[in-house]
Amino acid sequence: MQDLLTDIAAAAAANSDKGKVATYIPELAGIDPDQFGIAVATADGGLFTAGAAETPFSIQSVSKVFALALALGRVGDQIWRRVGREPSGLSFDSILLLERENGIPRNPFINAGALVTTDTYLSGSSPREALGELLRFIRAAADDEGIHMNEQVATSEFATGHRNFSLAHYLASHDNMRSDVDKVLGTYCHQCAVEMNCRQLALAGRFLVDTPGMPALVSIERRRRINALMMTCGHYDGSGDFAFRVGMPGKSGVGGGILVISPGRAAIAVWSPGLNRYGNSKLGTEAMELFAHRTGWSVFGVPHAGGAICHASS
Ligand code: GLU
Repeated sequence: MQDLLTDIAAAAAANSDKGKVATYIPELAGIDPDQFGIAVATADGGLFTAGAAETPFSIQSVSKVFALALALGRVGDQIWRRVGREPSGLSFDSILLLERENGIPRNPFINAGALVTTDTYLSGSSPREALGELLRFIRAAADDEGIHMNEQVATSEFATGHRNFSLAHYLASHDNMRSDVDKVLGTYCHQCAVEMNCRQLALAGRFLVDTPGMPALVSIERRRRINALMMTCGHYDGSGDFAFRVGMPGKSGVGGGILVISPGRAAIAVWSPGLNRYGNSKLGTEAMELFAHRTGWSVFGVPHAGGAICHASS
């Protein structure tokens, strides 16, 4: 595993097309795209890293996985009355389907759906309490008290997040916001501004892996369902492409991070800030394609003895 990660980091460093950093959140616009890190936390307690695996980055939409787990813990299946479970086929911040589908977002991983998720775990608490609960969940999952939110990133997104304001008000107009819209948006921007490095994110992702000896933060059924949603909706309108190329559930963020789960085996965190045309990490996606090819890991089948199952380009 260590040799594989070292190879993957070297391939990323040699790749001259790093993608384009997100610029719509001013605080993220100045990040050097020439960075790459990867970490693998295995179910049997192994931890492997390569590249800039200790460099903190803004997890952005990867936070939607932890937020969904928290919201499900609060209200259980009732959340599905307010948000769907289908891929949107549209970009992360699209408002198009909301009008046609009466203010019920397609899934909890596009921005509109994530605003409903945030509203759900915020309900009945102050933003400070709700964010404290979210941080406690993430820290418990990673077994790391050193995980924080970056206030400047949250402020930067809140000041410029016109799209998210539109989505939240549109949801409110359809009676699909319970809390004050500004409070939901403030909480959402802070949630997205959680910072982690690849090592911390891989460790936090173990709650979706089935890790013996680790306290279960969600039930088996819920874990399977979150993984299913990551597979079908975790990469916006690039979800099908990621499933095709990598074959494992994953959730991306515009900060360039991707959390990938190999159920029963490992959680993998990869980070490179340059994005592809879908808004997902370009080098991160390519690294995961190489990782899946070399390990043969896929939820769609087991590798032949001793090797990978197919060529990455097939
Ligand atoms: N905070 C970002 C937004 O709401 C998250 C999007 C993403 O990471 O894909 O625009």
